Amino acid sequence: MRKPMIAGNWKMYKTTQEAMNLVNTIKAGVHAISDCDIVVCPPFTALSNVSHLLNGSGIYLGAQNMHFEREGAFTGEISPVMIKDLGCRYVILGHSERRQYFGETDELINKKVKAALAYSLIPIVCVGETLAERESGSAKETVRKQFEGTFKDLTSDQFEKFVIAYEPVWAIGTGKTASPEQAQEMHEFIRDLISKRTNKDISSKIRILYGGSVKPENISGIMAQPDVDGGLVGGACLKGESFIQIIQGTSPVKTK
Ligand code: PEP
Repeated sequence: MRKPMIAGNWKMYKTTQEAMNLVNTIKAGVHAISDCDIVVCPPFTALSNVSHLLNGSGIYLGAQNMHFEREGAFTGEISPVMIKDLGCRYVILGHSERRQYFGETDELINKKVKAALAYSLIPIVCVGETLAERESGSAKETVRKQFEGTFKDLTSDQFEKFVIAYEPVWAIGTGKTASPEQAQEMHEFIRDLISKRTNKDISSKIRILYGGSVKPENISGIMAQPDVDGGLVGGACLKGESFIQIIQGTSPVKTK
């Protein structure tokens, strides 16, 4: 049984005060919603303040990245223990911006995924093809390679703990959304990969989110697809009103 989930990736936006204002707006707008898991992923600098505000709200806190070591001489990095200490339950790993601008490889993301699990954090692991890969017909091959690389050596039990986000790079921050059919085709493919790695029972339990220019106007069409369990939202989560509308847009869909 898969409960819908909407996660907001705030990226490198919002000062502490702005973050607190945004989370207060979200809290006020979603307090009556219980049929969708809501996750907010502010920048590291706002995690502590947002965490206090989320106390008792039922909204989950996530980080946007982390190092794989517990602690050490890694200037500028943040460890799993540190984000856990601030109240994070989730962590986004392998976002395409981390891959593109910070050189993150499947091998590195695999280390982070294992570390997240070791510290009881739930990784939201991102995969997705570029425009060139889609146009050349290799989108599935790219996603399959990312899947195998990032989930290398993981056991079936560990798989049950993930959330996967399919985020076609060409749809992130561009205003271009994958059509509901394109999203469904890739989500079904990913669920099949999980099933082959584990079994049908486990693959039927894992939530696969769609990410890429999700907005209030397109969420219901995407959510109507049988293998889409929610959204990872960038731009549209930076305004309380649109994030709340996206969450409300999942409500015709109960658990899949
Ligand atoms: C993202 O950053 O994960 C994302 C999907 O961004 P946007 O919604 O702005 O395309």
